[in-house]
Amino acid sequence: MTDHMEGDPGFRLADARVVVTGAAGFLGSHLCDTLLREGAVVVGVDNFLTGEADNLGHLGDHERFSLVEHDVTTYVEIPGEVDAVLHFASPASPIDYLELPIQTMKVGALGTHNMLGLAKDKGARFMLASTSEVYGDPEIHPQPETYWGNVNPIGPRGVYDEAKRFAEALAFAYHGAHGIAIRVARIFNTYGPRMRMHDGRAVPTFIRQAMAGEPLTVHGDGSQTRSLCYVDDLVAGLLGLLCGRVTGPMNLGSPHEVTMLELAEAVQDAVGRHPGVQLSRRPVDDPQMRRPDTSFAHRELGWEAGIDLREGLARTVAWYRAA
Ligand code: NAD
Repeated sequence: MTDHMEGDPGFRLADARVVVTGAAGFLGSHLCDTLLREGAVVVGVDNFLTGEADNLGHLGDHERFSLVEHDVTTYVEIPGEVDAVLHFASPASPIDYLELPIQTMKVGALGTHNMLGLAKDKGARFMLASTSEVYGDPEIHPQPETYWGNVNPIGPRGVYDEAKRFAEALAFAYHGAHGIAIRVARIFNTYGPRMRMHDGRAVPTFIRQAMAGEPLTVHGDGSQTRSLCYVDDLVAGLLGLLCGRVTGPMNLGSPHEVTMLELAEAVQDAVGRHPGVQLSRRPVDDPQMRRPDTSFAHRELGWEAGIDLREGLARTVAWYRAA
């Protein structure tokens, strides 16, 4: 069920007080930047498990930004009014969640529970950063929101996939039982400045390797696909969903699908060095293909990812060079 109309009025960012968990992470920090630009008051919450204080360094003196250092798997009190709670805290790269399996499950389960509790207490709307990983290794292509997924619950990736599936179920339970306004975004692979060089995701790994003149390590035969969305596009979609009237779940991502070999080529072009590729073993349960059906987001929000891969990679490489 994707067309779940709220019937509640739209939401204005200007002067809204917004809690963002995972604020020191890649997406959370970009989200904070845009929220502040739109006039919101932002309270970031992060325990720096996989995030970095540097991502928020430029906001140190911002009068509408504050940061609470806290693990959201335990109760947190946020004094004052809150208009929206955006729950983005979670290890997100396969390297991180394979290393932090229990923390990943706890932040998806207990963290989501605490943040839904906060939203209920404050009468705020709640947004969940869910993921395309709820579709697992999909048997339907591209993936629409109505697809239920193909997840191995006890495989190594299950800790992330199932935590997000539980989080979605819990958000809908709070929506049904307590009537709180929820927004569930199923985010597909997103890239851009501030991804950690060593977080294991393909884009930063390839950029790091190409910049060092080392062969790019491509898993398997490189024919598996991903659809990569530039972070500015994603944030625009997230805020459209937050302010709009539909609950979701809503796919947000780029429909432009590339093989990993094509991605490796595009990164080498963006870096301007061509050390070639080295094929390596494919991780367990690695999805063979991944592309969102974004017709729901397009219909409801008029949203689509507009920044093409070459442009997004050029911007990302420029940031790594300057960092
Ligand atoms: P990230 O690792 O850069 O950011 C996650 C942030 O959450 C970090 O700052 C980390 O310190 C914080 N965090 C983790 N556990 C916490 C806890 N218990 N308490 C407080 N803070 C905690 O990852 P990201 O790529 O920015 O992902 C952000 C969110 O978006 C995640 O929920 C992820 O599942 C979701 N998502 C991201 C992508 C993507 O392509 N980047 C795709 C799908 C979904």
